[in-house]
Amino acid sequence: MTIAIHHARLIDGTGAVQEGVTLLVRGAKIAAVGPSRDVTIPKGAARIDGRGLSIIPGLIDCHVHLCLGGEPDVVGTLESEQPSYTLLKSAAHAKATIDAGFTTVRDVGSRDHSIFTLKQAIESGVMPGPRIVGAGLAICMIGGHARFIGQEVEGTEQVRRVVAEQVAAGAGVIKVIASGGVLTPGTSPDDAQMTLEELAAAVDEAQRAGKRVAAHAHGAAGMKNAINAGVRSIEHATLLDDESGTLMKRYGVYMVPTLSALATTAACRHGCGIPDSALEKARSMTKRHHASFKAAHRSGIAIAMGTDAGTPFNYHGENAQELERMVALGMTPMEALVASTAAAAQLIGIHDSVGTLTKGMEADLVILKGNPLRRIDVLRDPDKIMGVMKAGMFVSGPLLKA
Ligand SMILES: [Zn+2]
Repeated sequence: MTIAIHHARLIDGTGAVQEGVTLLVRGAKIAAVGPSRDVTIPKGAARIDGRGLSIIPGLIDCHVHLCLGGEPDVVGTLESEQPSYTLLKSAAHAKATIDAGFTTVRDVGSRDHSIFTLKQAIESGVMPGPRIVGAGLAICMIGGHARFIGQEVEGTEQVRRVVAEQVAAGAGVIKVIASGGVLTPGTSPDDAQMTLEELAAAVDEAQRAGKRVAAHAHGAAGMKNAINAGVRSIEHATLLDDESGTLMKRYGVYMVPTLSALATTAACRHGCGIPDSALEKARSMTKRHHASFKAAHRSGIAIAMGTDAGTPFNYHGENAQELERMVALGMTPMEALVASTAAAAQLIGIHDSVGTLTKGMEADLVILKGNPLRRIDVLRDPDKIMGVMKAGMFVSGPLLKA
């Protein structure tokens, strides 16, 4: 069966926009795409009149935690839950994510290996949800940040073993913690965590298995260790300095800014339930985080979109708020869209199948009312999302029922 969307605006993920386009979906893939006068719609195809609609690639969030639900005290909440309850919650978060037009997520730290069970259930069609590239347990030093969703390690031997364990369990990416964090009490975002040797061992072991490494780092010391160790992305990159910025550019390391994480925490009042230590840390870093994002954007550091969805008041399904924040800090709507599609796919290493809408790619796409290049916030309006398609099948939106 062929689905033809005709006379639509196409924003294909590469940075290009074209009016009056017909896109044909056959099976799981894009069979043809081009100006409507050049593309013949086969007899019997299901037709969708695309006038007034925009087609964009399925969005990709490079930094989520499906096991966290945006609770004010995520650490305490997770510790009080049965693992099976957390998994059910994660499934609901996966559904909210794909309903919002996010057809792929990179999950960079979960309480156990059940993220791989969720991935399997989604891939088998048991439940709707995005493609998941999961890390499993984040790898951190003893007493380190994120240990509530991590495995504490000491020494390069143990690092290698834990990397191999995550890969054996199904990890598509390895997550390391190279600095303190906001949400873990007693850790300072400025301080480096794990040694350069440990980080390099993680990268080496991951590479042997064909996996990339994502490093959490707020402070410049942690960032530099991680970059020199060979990681592919710096998550947050909150306190970027000239040297760490230069290194990122030189080695093609991506920044995954997660502006939403700090912003939603910092916007909270005392007494909202977020522990005071986390509130103070988030507030004290917000300005510098914005400056770091602007400096990275200006200097041409590769930026891939990530929200840190699941952290306090940073809800799954509201992932598109990150594009608004990136635009507010100087990106054009087109740049924000590329960071959330093609660039994100490049970072994850899945750009041969998703992230752009060209012939032969998987048909992961979102059909929107209106033009996100004029108003980026249409992405966050559920009434504007007409259809979300993953691998050629509508999974959400009014077009699913049509
Ligand atoms: Zn995170």
